[in-house]
Amino acid sequence: MISRKQHIPDIDFANFALGNIKNLFVQNKIYINEEYQRGDVWKQGQKVELIKSIFNSYSIGVLVLYINDKGQFEILDGQQRLLTIFKYVSDKIDLPEDVTKYSELEENDKIFLNGYSVYYLKLKSHNPETKEEDIVQTFLRLQEGSPLNKAEKINAYRGTFKDVFLQERISQPMFTLMQGDKRFRLRLLSAELLLLELESDFKNKIFPSIDLPTFKVVINKYRSKISDIKVKFFRGNLDYIYESMNMMLTALTPRDLIPLYLLISYLRKHRADNSNLKNELSVFIENILQELNSFVITDTKPPKGMPANRFKTLMEYKTQARGATTSESIKYRFDFFLSEFEKQHKIILKDTKRLHDKEQKRILYLRQKGICLECNKIIDFRIDGSAHHVLAHKDGGKTDDLTKAVLLHEKCHQKLEKRISKENQNNNLKLF
Ligand SMILES: [Zn+2]
Repeated sequence: MISRKQHIPDIDFANFALGNIKNLFVQNKIYINEEYQRGDVWKQGQKVELIKSIFNSYSIGVLVLYINDKGQFEILDGQQRLLTIFKYVSDKIDLPEDVTKYSELEENDKIFLNGYSVYYLKLKSHNPETKEEDIVQTFLRLQEGSPLNKAEKINAYRGTFKDVFLQERISQPMFTLMQGDKRFRLRLLSAELLLLELESDFKNKIFPSIDLPTFKVVINKYRSKISDIKVKFFRGNLDYIYESMNMMLTALTPRDLIPLYLLISYLRKHRADNSNLKNELSVFIENILQELNSFVITDTKPPKGMPANRFKTLMEYKTQARGATTSESIKYRFDFFLSEFEKQHKIILKDTKRLHDKEQKRILYLRQKGICLECNKIIDFRIDGSAHHVLAHKDGGKTDDLTKAVLLHEKCHQKLEKRISKENQNNNLKLF
């Protein structure tokens, strides 16, 4: 016999009497999981229509409720309807004149209303291990064909990937300054940037698409873990955006945020000297945003003072960026931002060769006649000898350029590095 894992929860068809719904809320038997739901978003008119439907004995559709660990009804579908009923029987909805308040209903009407049947599908999971997934999958299936957007779908998943992008959305001041979080727009942005950080090949400038199928794969891949180093780097990039833009963030669109993020991540990974990156970014972003926002995509002529060539370039960028989630569009935008940045700032890449090899050390040893340039004592080349980049490797010092290298005792090298790092700190302090 074939044994199959049960993935679909048990489903029962059941109903409440409307008169019991208030008690269920009051007794905390109904649980609204914020992760799946959109809050109380129905407009006044929609609420009134629902109440009228009930009075006219029309169906209000079938709710979908999931029985969770605590025996509560977790709402998968029907939150707006249940909330509206709860508010109506609690006299908490502003009503037009033709609808009577619940507390002022005549006795017969109240009995009729309290007896109205609200039908629901009752879901219960068999398998404690796949329970979370059952809920998500069932929820997503229920939403097929209904206008649940990409952000809301991604948000319905659980796991480490979601924990990280949600945490940044909540705690990163950059997102607080950006406008409008309707339907999880900012959560989506946070998720997109995280996906790009984790899945891009920055060295070869190859980027993933940020469509739903890609998200599904990545959410699964990082279901249980993302390394601390990667999370920290991701945060660091967002800090750069926040600190170099600040109030300008209120005017930043997702179109430009994505290439900006990629530019910063790329520079931090591969550029030799980023000691002035925040200031460089401030000026760069202000200029490019000003240009990009000086005309709209339907304009046929450049704004005053903009050369026709420049107009064409910027228009091409805007066109490429419009709502696109393909890896080609993302690469186009990144390349554009990088080339614009390069017009203003020299980008010297870090030397990929980090350490001096034995042969290079031997050359240095002979050149220095065996003397350590830190303590002026003899080095025993058989057991010791550490080569120091006079121009630091992280600042673009080339390992193969022996005119900028010296040989030291291992211990003297460590001492020297400590002194340099202290001096750098002091110099940085002096700037402020
Ligand atoms: Zn020494």
